[in-house]
Amino acid sequence: MVGVKANTAAKFRLYPTADQAERLVSWSHTCRAVWNIALAQRVWAYGSAQRKTLQAGEQCSELTLARKEHVWLRDLPAQCAQQVLRQLDAAYENFWNPEHPARSPQYKRKSHQQGVTFPGQAVQIRKVSRRMAHVRLPKLGWVRFRLSRPIEGTVRNATIKRDGLGWHVAFGVHRPEPVDRHVNAGPAAGVDVGIACSVFVSTENEGRQRPDTLTAGEKQRLRGLERRMARQLTFAKKHNGGKYSKRLRRTIAQIAVLKARQARRRADWNHKLTDDLAKSHGIVAVEDLKVSNMLRSAKGTVAQPGTNVKQKAGLNRSIADQGWFEIRRQLGYKTRRYGGELVAVAPHGTSQTCARCGTRDSENRQGCGRLFACVHCGHTEHADRNAAINILDRALSTAGRAGCAASGRGTAQSTRSPHGQGSLAGSRMREPSSNVTAA
Ligand SMILES: [Zn+2]
Repeated sequence: MVGVKANTAAKFRLYPTADQAERLVSWSHTCRAVWNIALAQRVWAYGSAQRKTLQAGEQCSELTLARKEHVWLRDLPAQCAQQVLRQLDAAYENFWNPEHPARSPQYKRKSHQQGVTFPGQAVQIRKVSRRMAHVRLPKLGWVRFRLSRPIEGTVRNATIKRDGLGWHVAFGVHRPEPVDRHVNAGPAAGVDVGIACSVFVSTENEGRQRPDTLTAGEKQRLRGLERRMARQLTFAKKHNGGKYSKRLRRTIAQIAVLKARQARRRADWNHKLTDDLAKSHGIVAVEDLKVSNMLRSAKGTVAQPGTNVKQKAGLNRSIADQGWFEIRRQLGYKTRRYGGELVAVAPHGTSQTCARCGTRDSENRQGCGRLFACVHCGHTEHADRNAAINILDRALSTAGRAGCAASGRGTAQSTRSPHGQGSLAGSRMREPSSNVTAA
């Protein structure tokens, strides 16, 4: 099964013994060191006169030499170190991809939750009971994990990671695509992802707002802990030469628990949302937002400083927080899984165009409220629903779907042939969207 990439993942709670946990912690630090050294080497090589671009292949052979010299490096299984170099390759690839929000690869601090990744050939899985299983890792032996759902497919890699809530193992799994995929006959829907209201679906009358990821009590506790950490940090700098005390470490760990819980709740909501959208719709239309541009554009350059940098920074935080890119990514593979299709349309003016008469006018959005009021035909609507309908119309009026544009106000049916058309493939996410943006 060489060359078959993982196309899905499954994450489980892992229960290493104290010895295994200690070794894993030390390995994760080694992985971080390998990352940082390899990145420094690439930065240096690119900055040198030859402008050389290093890749995992060349660095792997240097790694072999380095392993002979350093005991700490030798302790980490060679395959794991090679995986780090491959991850660095992927990080650069994402960075060069204009569709991807990734920044340039960064050096990792000690506090970074670096995982240890093993290739699929190096791990073995055995089920020990209905709910428990063991994964065999090189040099560590069998490690217990909770089999909370079946692993369907071929395991291509395994990543061990620890966050505030404990250890986890994530398997990258290759699941073959079904040969005759059924076509999702559900209606088409436009989805507007926003700040004020998390998500608005064109077929619904109300937006879906993600609930707070922390309860009031948890928020209060987090504020208190952060204040305590700030105090302890100041003390460490002033009286302890910057050395972290045991109490400071404990505070940091307590904050990590809350942050991990928050992240898990956010991911849970995202998954339920995208699953629901993909399951019940034949076409899901979204705005083709270049998240990376939105996140970066405010700063400008030295010659041309950006405007409203502060305000934009606030907006950026909200966008990043909402996890737009992640929602889009999940919609991409989930619509495929459920036989539907994700269409990305040009985002220009979706919030200013009237969904009834089609005129675009910035006057249509008076003030900062969520009300859309057309100055030409008097149509009023929730601004995000208006945008969602526009997104849907654009998606339906492209690539041979013009027929349903008229009936596309919320209850449009998909008119696709059961086995898909060639032109549809081009509208998939992450591919040049020139044929879609013609709307
Ligand atoms: Zn109008």
